[in-house]
Amino acid sequence: MRPARALIDLHALRHNYLLARARHGGRALAVIKANAYGHGAIACAKALSGVADGFAVAFLDEALSLRAAGIQHPILLLEGVFDTDELDAVMREQLWIVVHHAAQIDMVERTPASQPLHVWLKINTGMNRAGFLPEQAPAAWQRLHDSGRVASCTLMTHFARADEPDVLSTTDQIAVFDDATRHLPGPRSLANSSAVLGWQAAHRDWARPGILLYGADPLPAADNGLRPVMTLQSQVMAVRDIPAGAALGYGGRFVAERATRVGLVAMGYADGYPRTVPDGTPVAVDGHPTCLIGRVSMDMLTIDLTDVPGCGIGSTVELWGAQVPVNRIASAAGTIAYELLCNVKRVRFEYQ
Ligand code: PLP
Repeated sequence: MRPARALIDLHALRHNYLLARARHGGRALAVIKANAYGHGAIACAKALSGVADGFAVAFLDEALSLRAAGIQHPILLLEGVFDTDELDAVMREQLWIVVHHAAQIDMVERTPASQPLHVWLKINTGMNRAGFLPEQAPAAWQRLHDSGRVASCTLMTHFARADEPDVLSTTDQIAVFDDATRHLPGPRSLANSSAVLGWQAAHRDWARPGILLYGADPLPAADNGLRPVMTLQSQVMAVRDIPAGAALGYGGRFVAERATRVGLVAMGYADGYPRTVPDGTPVAVDGHPTCLIGRVSMDMLTIDLTDVPGCGIGSTVELWGAQVPVNRIASAAGTIAYELLCNVKRVRFEYQ
């Protein structure tokens, strides 16, 4: 069997969720959209079901598959609904919805209420992506209230730059939110992962941690006690010695400066390992640190075994996990851990 696999540590997931809730106080929706950032939404929801206050996903289908798997917790749709049929399903399945633009309030007003709705009213406090402008918030709240269909309305916003500790726009966003909602009743929710870990002023009734649950710290150079959940792992499937001056792999990008022992590893960009990483990107072989050399191929990649003692065919290669932080690979690839984790595919998932 091809040895490429993603080991998912569900104890670490629970640890990270509880750490987030303790740091924030109040309640926390575990954000498990995009198949739990690539970790498997149903397995993650089940693992968290004994501790989580609720879950958040992006859209209806993600929530329906959780309901079909027996998850009875509150589930918030972060994008809300796209039409009135979806709103019917939301009521039938007793889901919670974000309302972030006026057309969604129109849908609420038009749809006969079979069940009371739990709504999260999203206010645009500076990210300028989704949500009502601060000055529109009271009228939006009033329309929802007057519709007679809304059982509860939580007030929320989302930060653009909370992962940058020295940037003051988060403080500005908090102030805009507080000002816009000053006269509106209801619970508040501001904090994503980086605000849970780094912005105490954003801690209110509900947190919405995502990336931190999976153990990738969104704050640079921080040690917040998170435990990595995914280990992306494979094995050396062949070993080859190349002389000084030989070029390795597509494009001949790596040229050996000395006689080099090359390990061929069953993992490629079709599995979600990024093609864009340079020579020197870290990997660990049977616990020893070494690095990638040569371009990543679709199904394989090559690593330097020259100075790694006792390794050969069958040695375990960690591409990311406890020894090789996924954040380190993301920065080598010019992206963020979110994207790498979401993109893992084709490998075997094993849950522990
Ligand atoms: N809240 C909202 C509205 C989001 O869109 C997201 C993710 O994009 C999150 C919370 C979770 O963010 P993070 O993964 O940075 O914690």
